[in-house]
Amino acid sequence: MKIKEIVTATNGILLNGDENFEVVGFSQDSRNIKAGMMYIPIIGERFDGHDFIDSAFENGASAIITDRDVYKSDKIIIKVKDTLIALQDMARYLRKHRDVKVVGITGSVGKTSTRDMVYSVVKQGYRVLKTEGNYNNNIGLPLTILRLKDEEIMILEMGMNHLKEMEELSLIALPDISAITNVGTAHIGELGNRENILKAKLEIIAGMKDGSTLVINNDNDMLSTVNLNDLDIVKVAIDTDGDFKALNVVLKDDSSSFEIYYQDKKYQVVVPVPGKHFVLNALIAIAIGIKLNISIDKCIKGINEFQLTKKRMDVIELKDNITLIDGTYNASEDSMKSSLDVLATYSRRKIAVLADMLELGEFSEQLHRNVGKYVADKKIDILVAVGKEAKYIVAGARDLEMNNIYYCDDNEEVINYLRNNLCSNDVVLLKGSNGMKLKDVVTQLKEKF
Ligand code: ATP
Ligand code: MG
Repeated sequence: MKIKEIVTATNGILLNGDENFEVVGFSQDSRNIKAGMMYIPIIGERFDGHDFIDSAFENGASAIITDRDVYKSDKIIIKVKDTLIALQDMARYLRKHRDVKVVGITGSVGKTSTRDMVYSVVKQGYRVLKTEGNYNNNIGLPLTILRLKDEEIMILEMGMNHLKEMEELSLIALPDISAITNVGTAHIGELGNRENILKAKLEIIAGMKDGSTLVINNDNDMLSTVNLNDLDIVKVAIDTDGDFKALNVVLKDDSSSFEIYYQDKKYQVVVPVPGKHFVLNALIAIAIGIKLNISIDKCIKGINEFQLTKKRMDVIELKDNITLIDGTYNASEDSMKSSLDVLATYSRRKIAVLADMLELGEFSEQLHRNVGKYVADKKIDILVAVGKEAKYIVAGARDLEMNNIYYCDDNEEVINYLRNNLCSNDVVLLKGSNGMKLKDVVTQLKEKF
């Protein structure tokens, strides 16, 4: 983007510098700034990015936007009222003024996994930019858009934790196609009920033109009720009916396969990662690929080549044929259940190490109980629970008369338990909210086995 365009987009004042200069990239983190880039200081809860302007300059920033008077003779300085709004204005401008199509992905769970699956398919036919990491909020999404160079399609992950947030993102991104993976219970503490979660997800259509495509997972009880006349609704399904329906699904512990009918012909699809939910994500990716005029064969090739982003569900092989499934990055009721589904596909002794799911407010007890029941339902051999809320996971499992349950007060105890009790051929799932630091348990087990 040229400085001229940035000034127009943000309604800012150019305090110093050449308006014809073209910025090579943007960052809100002064540590990631390289020569030629623009630094965008954001005021956060703990830090004010303006405190790091000097360090951004030291790292080679050519330009900054700022809400206060800054002067440096050889730098480009644009003054704006609010740097966060300016960041969003720049993204909005770029989205509108470049020839690019946008695919928006949201859902209570599975956004990143689906985004990566869609990427794998769409890159079979186009130059594609996608969200990296978890850059899915009102800062991450505009920063992602600002990475646009000559790509033809942008695949944007869109997250929210309160009403109106998705609307804001959609009005910046203006998706041509959107997908909602599911409506679950993540953030229910903030949103109050599942109807509100559905409403919040559907805000993704705020920036979409009439007739654009919205892909939904019809197996989800909330999404199956969606009926919007102004949009082209495409349904994907495994258990219910859909425009793209997976038939004869075979789930294995390292992959899945299914059949799909398209234009009266049958196709075989192999998904190279385990879990029924990845079959759904693959269907969403095929639906989007077809809408973008990618042939069904190429869509299927894209699914085949799919690679999982790290830290979602890493399968780690230790000695003595012990397998760890590392889901320690995050947890919600839905992702706990889908991870337990994966664990349940193994025919070896199965151990679930589950820690608290945080941020569930008054629903916490119920949702932890649900997970406990699911553990028992899925006939997991041993449940190891850790954390205050995880007591309710134990209670839920006990309700269904599960016996092999160990409650631990802290991660130290979990490590001791596993050290003394792991046997060859065991499969261990570790899952909990990031704040529960189960990752440390994984690290220690890797050292030990
Ligand atoms: P975040 O809110 O942290 O961005 P996310 O929505 O991007 O999460 P992922 O990171 O893709 O979600 O997946 C989280 C967990 O849910 C992983 O363990 C993954 O295997 C599982 N998962 C992926 N897709 C689905 C799905 N469609 N339904 C349920 N679980 C899923
Ligand atoms: Mg994500």
